[in-house]
Amino acid sequence: MSENPLQLLFQAFGKVSECVQTHLSLFILPSTGSSLSLTANRSPLVSPSTPDFHLLQPAEILQKANSSGPTTKEELGRATWTFLHTLAAQYPDKPTRQQRKDVKELMAILSRMYPCKECADHFKEVIRANPVQAGSHHEFSQWLCHVHNVVNRSLGKPVFPCERVDARWGKLECERRECDLQGPLMDFGDEAK
Ligand code: FAD
Repeated sequence: MSENPLQLLFQAFGKVSECVQTHLSLFILPSTGSSLSLTANRSPLVSPSTPDFHLLQPAEILQKANSSGPTTKEELGRATWTFLHTLAAQYPDKPTRQQRKDVKELMAILSRMYPCKECADHFKEVIRANPVQAGSHHEFSQWLCHVHNVVNRSLGKPVFPCERVDARWGKLECERRECDLQGPLMDFGDEAK
C-alpha cells in the first residue's frame, strides 16, 4: 500500500462528517415555506441566506439540533417526501418482483405507521383511491408525484409539474454508484418478472 493508513482514516472521517452535516441541515434549517422548486436544484431547503451553515463543526450542529425543539409536522413531511422521492429516483427501470412488493408494502406501512395520525389517515385514503404503481422507475416516480400533489392540493399548496420530477429528484450522489438499487443484488434470488 502506497498511502498512509492514517491519512485514509482522516479522509474517511472527513467524508462522514460532511455527510452528517448535510443530512442534519435538512432537519434544522428554517423552512422556506411552501414554494415549489421548478429548477433542478435538489436542495431548496438549503437557503442562500444561511451560507455559513456548512462551516459549522459537528458538535455545534448537534447543539443547534438539540436546541431546535421537537420535529414539526412540516419538517417530518419534507424529510419523508425527500426519502420517498429519492427512493423513486433510484427505483430501477426494471424492478424485480421483490422490489415491487417491497415498495407497495412500504406505502401501506407508511399509511399505518406515519408518526402524524391525521396525515397517516389521509394518506391511507389517498393510496386507496390511487393504488401504488411500481412497474418501473417512470411509473413509480410519476405515481409518487401524483399522490404528493393530491396531498399538496388538500393543503392548499401548489401542484408540482410531474414532468419535472426527474430533474427535481435526481439519483443520490454516491461515489462509484454504490447507492444504486441493483436489481439482482437486492433481489435475494427472486425473478425479475
Ligand atoms: P413538501 O410538500 O414537504 O415537499 C418538499 C419538496 O418536494 C418541495 O419543496 C418540492 O420541491 C417538492 N415537491 C412538492 N410537490 C412535489 C410533487 N408532487 N412531486 C415531487 N416533488 C414535489 N401535512 C398536513 O398538514 N396534513 C396531512 O394530512 C399531511 N399528510 C402527509 C402525508 C404524507 C405521506 C407525507 C409524507 C406528508 C404529509 N404532510 C401532511 C406534510 C406535507 O405534505 C408537507 O410535507 C409539509 O406541509 C411541508 O410542506 P412543504 O411546502 O415544505 O413541501
